[in-house]
Amino acid sequence: MAVTPTLETDVLRHQDPEVAEILLAERTRQATTLQLIAAENFASPAVLAALGSPLANKYAEGYPGARHHGGCELADVAERVAVDRATALFGAAHANVQPHSGSLAVLAAYAALLRPGDTVLALGLPYGGHLTHGSPANFSGRWFDFVAYGVDAETGLIDHDQVRALASAHRPKAIVCGSIAYPRHIDYAFFREVADEVGAHLIADAGHPIGLVAGGVAPSPVPYADIVCATTHKVLRGPRGGMILCGAELAERVDRAVFPFTQGGAQMNAVAAKAVAFGEAATPAFRRYARQVVANARVLAAELADEGLAVTTGGTDTHLITVDPAPLGVEGRTARGLLAAAGLVLDCCALPHADARGLRLGTAAVTTQGMGEAEMARIAVLLAGVLRGEIDVTGARAEVRELAGRFPPYTG
Ligand SMILES: *Cc1c(COP(=O)(O)O)cnc(C)c1O
Repeated sequence: MAVTPTLETDVLRHQDPEVAEILLAERTRQATTLQLIAAENFASPAVLAALGSPLANKYAEGYPGARHHGGCELADVAERVAVDRATALFGAAHANVQPHSGSLAVLAAYAALLRPGDTVLALGLPYGGHLTHGSPANFSGRWFDFVAYGVDAETGLIDHDQVRALASAHRPKAIVCGSIAYPRHIDYAFFREVADEVGAHLIADAGHPIGLVAGGVAPSPVPYADIVCATTHKVLRGPRGGMILCGAELAERVDRAVFPFTQGGAQMNAVAAKAVAFGEAATPAFRRYARQVVANARVLAAELADEGLAVTTGGTDTHLITVDPAPLGVEGRTARGLLAAAGLVLDCCALPHADARGLRLGTAAVTTQGMGEAEMARIAVLLAGVLRGEIDVTGARAEVRELAGRFPPYTG
């Protein structure tokens, strides 16, 4: 990272000290604690500059060349650049870069392919399915008839036999593969095969691994899925937002499902920032970054296992790790609180086939900061020490501050 984003703090501090203070404190929080939340990252100053640009002022309902507002000439160019970079990066025939979030990308995918009441087969929430995969608290669970597949109780791996059996018993209109907590690669060819056997659409919800796909270290769902949904802010390191990739035959249905069906005007500053992120992700430096993200996660998982935590599936193929801290004598929710006090910021997650909560960690953000295997080992020792009560929280907080201080997310 070259320079610190300015945040226009002088202007803001003068005009609105109350909000300026919050933003500056948040910047300090991010720089002095360790962001181990698997879904988070540090966007580059260039991405943040595009987000804070005057395109934020522009209304641009519709698509390039067919807008409902005047003055969209440059918004059109920005969106075309984003779409061209996305299709080139992922080898997709079509990209829609307008979804405001990963969830809205999934909503649009369902809108393009399904009718309310249709049956959908997806990974159950206790096994790492996202809210949009059938939670009763979400539109998905209310508007569609979800059937859940799970993971094997012994191995923690997706139960392929169960997927095939449920597909043939329920004849779903769509099958969803993708997760917010599955640490292993997904076998997209297998899901394509099952979808074809039962005449279902295949939706890959690749919000987490899409950045690893861009970096060449995870298999791509693009050749297999009818529609790929993704986020742009996780390992991919762009602005918060969503994206859809699909073949030419679904392009028009997907575009209409995003606008006007599920959204109004696109956020053109975010679209420009997505273009910047796709440009960054196409570089050799990003491929090196993606390799290091996975190398770091493998070491972190192995070291956590050495410390006695139960690592789901025994390790990871990705940036993401889930562990059960119970062997150290502490439950997930308590563990998250203790670790947050020590400056190790991470999430709780459901654990397959267990009532207790686990912990979910990721290496995307700390790897952007420049940390490597040695720092992962140190983080594992600190984390386990805090949970066993061998390192007091104040001491751990000081160590985290020192470690974070050596790897500032933004410099200058
Ligand atoms: C992150 C994620 C989402 C949701 O993205 P938001 O931007 O938070 O709405 C949906 N599905 C998967 C698989 C994800 O990883």
